[in-house]
Amino acid sequence: MNVTALAGGVGGAKMLAGLARAIDTADLTAVVNTGDDDDIYNVHVSPDVDIVTYRLAGIGDTERGWGLAGDTFELVDSLDRLGAEAWFRLGDRDYATCLYRTMRLREGVPLSQITDEIRSRLGVTARIIPMTDHFVRTRFIAADGRTLEFQEYFVKERQEPEIAEVILHGIDEATPAPGVLDAIEAAEAVVICPSNPVVSIGPILGLRGVRDALRSHPKVVAVSPIVQGRPLRGPADKLLRAVGAASSASGVAELYSDFCNIFVVDVMDEDEVAKIASTGLRAESLDTIMDDDNGAARLAKELLAL
Ligand code: GDP
Ligand code: CA
Repeated sequence: MNVTALAGGVGGAKMLAGLARAIDTADLTAVVNTGDDDDIYNVHVSPDVDIVTYRLAGIGDTERGWGLAGDTFELVDSLDRLGAEAWFRLGDRDYATCLYRTMRLREGVPLSQITDEIRSRLGVTARIIPMTDHFVRTRFIAADGRTLEFQEYFVKERQEPEIAEVILHGIDEATPAPGVLDAIEAAEAVVICPSNPVVSIGPILGLRGVRDALRSHPKVVAVSPIVQGRPLRGPADKLLRAVGAASSASGVAELYSDFCNIFVVDVMDEDEVAKIASTGLRAESLDTIMDDDNGAARLAKELLAL
């Protein structure tokens, strides 16, 4: 079965690791958010793309959720000792990935091609496409009026400020990376991973043509990242409220209702099934908690059997 999955970082990477066990990886394509990308320590970091790539390569730090297992932090610790702003924890080997990406970008190579080079050299056989080769940056307007860069809000300020508005800078000028729309059209099933609906899936949906391609697709299956009204980690609840949506599985279902064919909630949210079904969208409940790759593989198989 040919599957294309839309993904952010941690929730996306877990779902993709499950899909990679459930189907032939040659038939799996990941379309990954780049709205969190930034220039940090003079390199281009692409957090969600790297989380997904490392996880599929089996070298990701599954405890922390990001970075490489067993990586060291000499570089950032040394920067910190020198008095530089060093709140972004980027591991030494992780830095090499970002430095390689930066060197290739300076040679004029598009991000999608560089991502494919890194993928292949790390031994990943599933296809990984960054959502765009263009510059899209998610930013936040805090309730106190400050504009925060993505990583400033997420890492430096630990997602504490109240957010009034989410801005997808550059989204209107951006186009999907080569292969994104084709991968959606060619897939037998499209999976919307249990990723942050506002800042991981939102930017992908905002790219020209993506939403239309999903609307025309007969089998789009989404998994809720919200269980019992809360995200398993991260600030999806606050960000959902910032865009006027409810922090619940049905709140996420509403955001996806124009293109989604089957919305999957967790078994703990059985009451949400009827609520979603009453809007005309097919809803199912499954155990969506992915504690490890086996759990993720089980969920992937159940999803694809729907
Ligand atoms: P990020 O880019 O690293 O923030 O990661 P994503 O956007 O891909 O995923 C973040 C979302 O994943 C959060 O809202 C979590 O609630 C959700 N999530 C993480 N692990 C799981 C899981 O095992 N099951 C489900 N259903 N959601 C999960
Ligand atoms: Ca992310």
